[in-house]
Amino acid sequence: MKNPYLLLTPGPLSTSASVKQTMLRDWCTWDDDYNLGVVQPIRQQLVDMALASSSITSNDGETAYSTVLMQGSGTFAVESAIGSAIPRDGKLLVLINGAYGKRIAEIAEYLKIAVVSLEVAEHEWIAADVLAETLAKDADITHVAMVHCETTSGILNPLERYAAIVKAAGKVLLVDAMSSFGGIDIKVADLGIDFLISSANKCIQGVPGMGFVIAKRSELLLCEGRARSLSLDLFSQWKTMEDNQGKWRFTSPTHVVRAFQQALAELNLEGGIEARAKRYVANHQTLIRGMKAQGFQCVVDADKQSPFISTFVYPDSELFDFKKLYDCLKEEGFVIYPGKVTATPCFRIGHIGEVYPEDMQRLLVALAKHRFWEQEDALENVSA
Ligand SMILES: *Cc1c(COP(=O)(O)O)cnc(C)c1O
Repeated sequence: MKNPYLLLTPGPLSTSASVKQTMLRDWCTWDDDYNLGVVQPIRQQLVDMALASSSITSNDGETAYSTVLMQGSGTFAVESAIGSAIPRDGKLLVLINGAYGKRIAEIAEYLKIAVVSLEVAEHEWIAADVLAETLAKDADITHVAMVHCETTSGILNPLERYAAIVKAAGKVLLVDAMSSFGGIDIKVADLGIDFLISSANKCIQGVPGMGFVIAKRSELLLCEGRARSLSLDLFSQWKTMEDNQGKWRFTSPTHVVRAFQQALAELNLEGGIEARAKRYVANHQTLIRGMKAQGFQCVVDADKQSPFISTFVYPDSELFDFKKLYDCLKEEGFVIYPGKVTATPCFRIGHIGEVYPEDMQRLLVALAKHRFWEQEDALENVSA
């Protein structure tokens, strides 16, 4: 079956036919075919991916890090890490420059975890010295959470810089790398990241339904008894998977997990993270060049922009109507994303998933056909 349109909306995002194909059979969650054949290899591969570019040897790394798979959308995995990592007497600092950073703070508030935040505008970075000062001033802070790529705007936060400061201050670091892991190199072990959270249906190009947490074993062991939720207890989920060779505590999203295994295989086939990153950069550059040529402005400066999703300011015309643009492009075979940046009316175009520079070219052609918001200018010019 052919998709009626390409999703430029991560996530979910467009997946390959071969990923979807793997969902046509059923799996028994008690059987070795599933646990040893699907779940355990996935857990291993995620650890390998996280450590591939770190200088730590893979043997050390494999004993140092482990993966926990978690049912639900990405937020469930974030909530499970936040709710399980921070002890009753702990305090969380959240770095915020968009909706996903805000969501982490909101999760902490829901769970009655002591939380403070540093917040800047969605197109800006929190200054490194402000982070260092905050950690120096408030000795009660035990954990720091940050978002790598803020999908709100597409801004890529300076993870290396922040990680060095957080680790130098001796704090536990949690990174929401939902929309970046698998699409850009992250030196998880070298940076000392304690918990990295991502999901199946972003850069790894699986289908939605599960997330995962790659964490230091030493930190996972500390999570015992800390969870504020039974189903989102990261420690129990990990312990069950470890002790029972890949068994999930509660019904596992078997089809999603099998599709994820295929998505990981396709990532390797493409040439790994490096090759995928190159494709995303090519998608992004093709899009940005074309959009600028058509007079669109980016919300995020080029030096802070990720290759995953881009945000464009609405054209300066009273005739511009996002819903109308959305419908025109959908008709042409592309679904785009409404904006999420609060201060600027904008829309977003994602360039991850089973999407190639040729698709970006086709989108630009489609967009050029539908510049309905320019009619007013044209009329003015005629009457002038
Ligand atoms: C997609 C995403 C999430 C998770 O969102 P869900 O809708 O729960 O899958 C979290 N953080 C970031 C940065 C994301 O891009």
